Amino acid sequence: MDHKGKNFLIAGAAGFVPSTVAQLYLDKGATVYGLDNFITGSKSNIELLSKYENFHFTECDITHGLPDFGDIKFHYILSLASPASPIDFKVIPLEIMTVNSIGTQNLLELAKDHGARFLEASTSEVYGDPEIHPQTEDYVGHVNPIGPRSCYDEAKRYAEALTMTYRRKYNVDTKIIRIFNTYGPRMRPDDGRVIPNFINQALEGRDITVYGDGSQTRSFCYVTDLANAIDHVLMLGDHMPYNIGNPDEYSIKETGELIVDALDSSSKLTYQELPKDDPKRRRPDINRVMKLGYLPKVTFAEGIERTAKFFREYKK
Ligand code: NAD
Ligand code: UDP
Repeated sequence: MDHKGKNFLIAGAAGFVPSTVAQLYLDKGATVYGLDNFITGSKSNIELLSKYENFHFTECDITHGLPDFGDIKFHYILSLASPASPIDFKVIPLEIMTVNSIGTQNLLELAKDHGARFLEASTSEVYGDPEIHPQTEDYVGHVNPIGPRSCYDEAKRYAEALTMTYRRKYNVDTKIIRIFNTYGPRMRPDDGRVIPNFINQALEGRDITVYGDGSQTRSFCYVTDLANAIDHVLMLGDHMPYNIGNPDEYSIKETGELIVDALDSSSKLTYQELPKDDPKRRRPDINRVMKLGYLPKVTFAEGIERTAKFFREYKK
């Protein structure tokens, strides 16, 4: 679909997933306005997007209010600003809670005023340590409200509730996506999530740090597939939540072994303590989004190769 003449507001535009989504819409001819305070985002992503003449950026913390956009009318507002790595949960928990609550509400108010379609980027973390497998959207979750991950899980659950409330009370046209583990170029090397950790350890011949015995599972989605899934939901979806991701499931031990093999590395797996409340199994049921025509395309092997290329060049 061509998006010429459409104005998108992307909160978190300097981030890994949001900058990829911004690029997708810029490539489709849209005008994209990006907001970011760089708490976990990178200036290089903004430099890259700034090569498009229809990209406009304002540095701002969306919890402190939004810029004055004058006469601009937004057609789409994407709430993608939030740190997402478990290491951020320790370091910036209050920032995570406020961006998903106050920040999301500021964006919803703007969507109400502009009559814009609004998309909230929620997460598989709303399911907590799930008791059903694979996870379907009707599962209400198993979250520890006082655990070390709760600043993120509960903030995202609140953001979903806020989104549904704006729909019910003000009839805002809303969409909710629950993103499962995503990886790819533009992740920070020190992001702390498993794929950047393992790839950088493998590239440098360091030990691969498996937490626990490595039997816990995750299903990894390559970032351009994810951006494509977001587009399907934004353009074609209904207002109920959509799981988005890739259902191919790997144990963490297997993930380490695959990365070592794929990168022909001499690294060895080592085992460290498992963080508290670490979900044991995670795989999305993506039937709902597949009905909109989405299918993940990039295999894990191909995605690892492309991500490793990004990190090799990053170090130069
Ligand atoms: P990211 O940290 O790379 O991107 C988030 C961006 O938001 C960063 O650029 C950050 O600086 C910006 N930001 C944070 N607080 C802000 C504030 N108060 N004001 C302005 N900007 C702010 O993370 P990501 O992995 O790309 O995640 C993007 C979105 O997708 C987040 O909402 C995250 O919760 C969600 N998500 C991601 C994953 C994943 O696997 N990557 C999984 C589930 C959900
Ligand atoms: N993990 C690991 N070693 C690392 C980083 C993460 O074994 O260096 C594990 C982590 O305990 C979890 C899984 O990999 O079981 C995915 O972790 P990540 O932080 O990427 O995302 P999560 O799904 O936990 O939010």
